[in-house]
Amino acid sequence: MTEISMSGLVEGAKKLGVTLDSYQLNQFEIYYRNLVDWNERLNLTAITEAGEVQAKHFMDSLTLLPLIKGISMESLRIIDAGTGAGFPGIPIKIAMPDVKMALLEVTTKKARFLEHIITELQLSDIEVINERAEEAGHKSDYRESFDIVVSRAVAELAILAELTLPFCAVGGYLIAQKKGDIRLELENSLKAIEMLGGRLSSVDKVTVDELDDMRYLVIIQKISQTPQKYPRRPGMPEKRPLL
Ligand code: SAM
Repeated sequence: MTEISMSGLVEGAKKLGVTLDSYQLNQFEIYYRNLVDWNERLNLTAITEAGEVQAKHFMDSLTLLPLIKGISMESLRIIDAGTGAGFPGIPIKIAMPDVKMALLEVTTKKARFLEHIITELQLSDIEVINERAEEAGHKSDYRESFDIVVSRAVAELAILAELTLPFCAVGGYLIAQKKGDIRLELENSLKAIEMLGGRLSSVDKVTVDELDDMRYLVIIQKISQTPQKYPRRPGMPEKRPLL
């Protein structure tokens, strides 16, 4: 087996104040090998070079850690909505093994990959929900059941708020990873966020050198229950965003 240097991730994590032990680094290496292997059959990621995966997938996912660690709650329940091949949910779970993690993904083939990688990494307290957010968000097992909702590259904020805020318990947070100039998107989402029981808390710029291409963490606090009619039926949040 060709050797893979994980030094990029070690150094990058350090910059985020995250120390990864040899067991965790080995988990990241196994994750990388499986991602690239399955990517030959499934379209999981356009990024496959080891150094780039470490920066743009692994480290980028870990940028949420300081925030998550700052939310002092016992036995945190986190859901990653629209996780794809597991970003940012799986790196967070590797780095914080004690959190309870749910990975929501509508595409069945991707969900199969997630189940496979969970077994390979021997992770516990982690579940794959192979459903649409619009449906899962109405089920009592998931609705307002998570302390933190995380989501990367799934939809514009107004749409994302409808898809994800129903999962968030009152007092919890939605942390959306965003890239590029998000000013207009942010402005256009304020009404939806309010209608869904949220309040924009802050927008933090990611300041790590390896990720200097305008990456932001948009943090929304859940301050009241989401009205029962949301999320609307599948496809509606995207078709008619709550602008
Ligand atoms: N979060 C991952 C990442 O950053 O690499 C994946 C991003 S990918 C662009 C968006 C993912 O969200 C896709 O895998 C898609 O199937 C999933 N998705 C989109 N809409 C969804 C919905 N309504 N419910 C559940 N999953 C959804």
